[in-house]
Amino acid sequence: MDAGQTQGVASGERLYKETLEQTLEQAVDAVVVIDQDNRITLINAAAEALWGWPRDLALGRNVSMLVPSELRSRHDGYINANRDTGVDRIVGTSREVPIQRRDGQLRWASMSISRVRVDGQVLYTAFLKDVTAQRAERERMRLLSQVADHSGGAITITGTDQRIVYVNSGFTQWLGYDSSEALGRPIQDLLRGAHTDALVLEATRQAAMAGESLRTEVLFYSKSGRPLWISLTLNPVRDTQDRLQNMVWVLIDITHTKMPELLQTQVLAAMAHDQATAAIAHMLCMQAEHIAPELAVCLATVDGEGGLRTLAAPSLPPEIRALIDGMAVGAELACRDTAATCNAALQADEVESALRWPSNEICLGQGLHACWTRPIRASDGTLLGALAFLHREPGTPTALHQRLMEVGLHLGALLLEREREREQIRQLAYYDALTGLPNRRLLLAQLERLLHDLRGDGGRLALAFVDLDRFKQVNDTHGHPAGDALLRALAQRLRDSARPGDVIARMGGDEFVLILPSCDASQANACMERLLAAWREPVAWADGTLHPSASIGIALCPEDGLDARQLMRHADLAMYQAKAAGGNSLRFYNATMNQRAQERAQLEADLRRALRDDALEVHYQPQVDSRDLQVLHGVEALLRWTHPRQGSIDPARFITLAEESGLMRELTRWVLNQVCSQLGLWRRRGLAIPHVAINLSASCFHHPDLPEQLIRSLHQHGLQANDLVVEVTESVMLTHDPVVMATVHAIGERGIALSLDDFGTGYSSLSLLHRLPIQELKLDRSFVLDIEESPRARALTDAVLRIGHSLGQQVIAEGVETEAQRRHLLDSGCTTLQGYLIAPPMPALAFERWVGEKSVRTACNKDYNVQARPLEKQDGR
Ligand code: C2E
Ligand code: CA
Ligand code: CA
Repeated sequence: MDAGQTQGVASGERLYKETLEQTLEQAVDAVVVIDQDNRITLINAAAEALWGWPRDLALGRNVSMLVPSELRSRHDGYINANRDTGVDRIVGTSREVPIQRRDGQLRWASMSISRVRVDGQVLYTAFLKDVTAQRAERERMRLLSQVADHSGGAITITGTDQRIVYVNSGFTQWLGYDSSEALGRPIQDLLRGAHTDALVLEATRQAAMAGESLRTEVLFYSKSGRPLWISLTLNPVRDTQDRLQNMVWVLIDITHTKMPELLQTQVLAAMAHDQATAAIAHMLCMQAEHIAPELAVCLATVDGEGGLRTLAAPSLPPEIRALIDGMAVGAELACRDTAATCNAALQADEVESALRWPSNEICLGQGLHACWTRPIRASDGTLLGALAFLHREPGTPTALHQRLMEVGLHLGALLLEREREREQIRQLAYYDALTGLPNRRLLLAQLERLLHDLRGDGGRLALAFVDLDRFKQVNDTHGHPAGDALLRALAQRLRDSARPGDVIARMGGDEFVLILPSCDASQANACMERLLAAWREPVAWADGTLHPSASIGIALCPEDGLDARQLMRHADLAMYQAKAAGGNSLRFYNATMNQRAQERAQLEADLRRALRDDALEVHYQPQVDSRDLQVLHGVEALLRWTHPRQGSIDPARFITLAEESGLMRELTRWVLNQVCSQLGLWRRRGLAIPHVAINLSASCFHHPDLPEQLIRSLHQHGLQANDLVVEVTESVMLTHDPVVMATVHAIGERGIALSLDDFGTGYSSLSLLHRLPIQELKLDRSFVLDIEESPRARALTDAVLRIGHSLGQQVIAEGVETEAQRRHLLDSGCTTLQGYLIAPPMPALAFERWVGEKSVRTACNKDYNVQARPLEKQDGR
């Protein structure tokens, strides 16, 4: 090689070296070269920046200054091992190494090393790229994917084409697709399944396309076909320019948690809102079928007769429902607590021993291949019903089915127990405890319903009011147990005589009501005649035999009314007519009755007003000695009412009215006060009136304070107990009511005389006469009336007189109108007379005048405490 050549070569080498040096110097990567003693011979600008060491401090020093302090001592060893053995542990590979900067900061760099031999020396060149940021990002990603993998859910990420770009381990484990099967496939391909809701699926597709968030619940299937309920959350990922990049799908399994919970919440909420049992049962089944669409669910209850009745079976064909309804709950169902799976396809022998659920052939015919039934029990263990899952495919229950069954049984028990309690409450609220018949409330509800149906189809019905005659007497004479037994017996006769569809109810007391659907007048007549006859049959009772009879009133729809209230009122009116006619009869309602009822209501109002306005009047009728009509024995006070429009009203009529409308007490008080005040006035004026007799109705004796009231009134007007006589009819005396008896005796004990009115017309119980404090008998007018013509009337009159006299009782003959009657009575030994022959009942003033005109005297020597004064000079009247 010549000098020129040499020079050329030398300058070429220099150029090359410089180029190399400058290239190294300007390289993006850090470059460090070390010599055979591991001393740094080259460190470029990037390396200076990476380590923070300026090159004049680094050149010539051992390269270990650039490695983290804990590696420094072993660093030469690494390099020398390579240098000596050539075993390539560091050269040719790229790895990440920690960098410790001069200021102590730690960084990461990706390092590759090349080994060169120059002049027999082995040199190493290290190229390093700062990867601290990438490494941090990688770490972040690693942590993130760990989070995803351990999130308990399945996470998948799709691209804008809806194809899967990422699945976490949850996804692969739970759904059974490994990532190679999943990646690249459209996600909807994996989510689709037999009962997946296509609409929900479409909604997810739309949201994914539009990059919108979405949250929904959907049923889909694992790779092996296991149904899964998932809660699906869909969220978009966008880049910095807000362009849609990916969709993140988070799927959480709610099959065993949320879905049964949902079922439970819905059913409990419905129960809390007091929805109807059948509606809730339906919802329970529907919801269970929604969760497990492969099932047909049936909830059945045990009815009163111990048979099953489907409460809800929304997707069971009617043929199967018909089989279930009325099916006897066999001992098997009652005692079998464990699940019985009947699987037609697989376990033929178990089918035989399975519950007596619908026979297998029919189920199979309907495409139901397996049936799983469990009894529903109340907390006290009683059987309430059954829950059945019928499966469209053969197989044993899945975990989901088991969970659903568990929840279903729990809810079913709550529901049926609630129903049982409701039934008990209904029984209390709608049935009469004594007879077990529907009560007034239920009757009205049923009447309303029947009338409602009837309005639609133009049908008809009859409503009958049945009222037992003289029931009060039964209670009073034989006691309440007898009354109850009688009512029960009659209720049974009512039941026996009813046709299917008839409604029978007890309205309270001795009143019953019947609704006879599709019944015209003649049918109703025939029915009720039969009932009358049935009720007339004697009822045996411990103390003897009762002879009941009834009064029946009938109203017809549509003729007599279209609404319940009107029909009830009209049937009631008709019943009163039957009662007024003497009982043991039936009456159909007619318009006249209604008019009469209205008149009666008007009259009642008028009577109340008259009482309030003192518009009533007491008339007085003398009772005199039969031998000398001028000798006054006593006076009977008789009430009079002159109606402003109708004139004089028969006392028998308004007294009954007062009795029926609860006015009797007030009326009696008024009469008593009037009479006492009048007698007091007469006494003060010296009028010799021995006593006044007042009439008291039976009802007055039910008030124990009556004797006190009488005495108070007498004293108020300066009178004594013997100034008053109380007239009562035998009906009062016949009762065995201890209150009435006590009142009667208390009156006697106070010294007020009792007079038995209308004697001889009623029961004339002779034993009563000496048991009770009776001083006087009033021979009824009917005997007096016939005394001239009828030997029989005469004989009876004689008998009454003899009884009275032998018991030391005064006998007064009522209604004496003729002299002949007086003679007969006198001959028979009757000492006291009352009647038109002597004087009619008169107003007080007329009575006074009568006393004066007739020069009336008194028989007894009473101290009238006021001196007699001539009538003409009396003050006041
Ligand atoms: P009573 O107690 O049997 O009253 C006697 C009835 O006979 C009275 O009828 C009287 O007017 C009538 N009378 C009297 N003498 C004769 C006669 O010679 N011939 C005929 N044919 N009748 C005669 P009245 O006033 O219509 O009373 C009817 C009933 O009303 C009474 O029957 C009595 O039970 C009841 N009554 C009247 N006033 C009262 C009262 O203040 N309170 C109660 N609870 N009942 C009363
Ligand atoms: Ca009387
Ligand atoms: Ca009488």
